[in-house]
Amino acid sequence: MFNPGRCFSLLKRYANASKNYRAFHTNVLGMVVHENTKCPIVAIKIGNGRKKVLVAAGIHGNEKAAPEAAVRFIEDEKTPVFLKDFSLTILPLMNPVGFSKDIRKNGPIDMNRHFGCKKFHKENSIVENYMNGKSFDMMMSLHEDVDMESFYMYETGSFDAGRLGKIIADDVLFLRAVERKGVPINHDKTMYGILNRGGIKIVSSRSASCA
Ligand SMILES: [Zn+2]
Repeated sequence: MFNPGRCFSLLKRYANASKNYRAFHTNVLGMVVHENTKCPIVAIKIGNGRKKVLVAAGIHGNEKAAPEAAVRFIEDEKTPVFLKDFSLTILPLMNPVGFSKDIRKNGPIDMNRHFGCKKFHKENSIVENYMNGKSFDMMMSLHEDVDMESFYMYETGSFDAGRLGKIIADDVLFLRAVERKGVPINHDKTMYGILNRGGIKIVSSRSASCA
């Protein structure tokens, strides 16, 4: 069932949390129309630090943990202090219709596999138009695996050997911090056919399958 209130109440939580930040910019990137309701895709920018980080959530509408994690991070009163070194951009909900219907996709294709493809949904083009010309030091794409109760990461990008070691070292520190919070880390040898190195799956960046 389409319940746009789910999308709007999530975004309202960002508006409520904005008072904790000295500067909090919200851009409406575009609208996705469904059953005569306009659901916005927004970007939120906070912090003026040197390191530019992009956090993207909610491309798979049924993976509720991802948008929830992002908004809890923003609601946390300690986050503004943490931000002094960072410029953070958040795309809190890239698939507002799927989220409001509690389904993975909004149409025939998986939007997460169709950035840069000829076949795409409006959501893809809204996000792509916003991203054009921008660069970030790191991007985190948040997802939920409904079949797993443990945490794991995909590490992907254009790696050169010199940087990869540092990236993995940072990942290990991050996984330890997650574990200290009481979240189990996935230690299966392989997951979905990819070698799992103690919770980190390293995959080289590749273009979208565009199927
Ligand atoms: Zn997902």
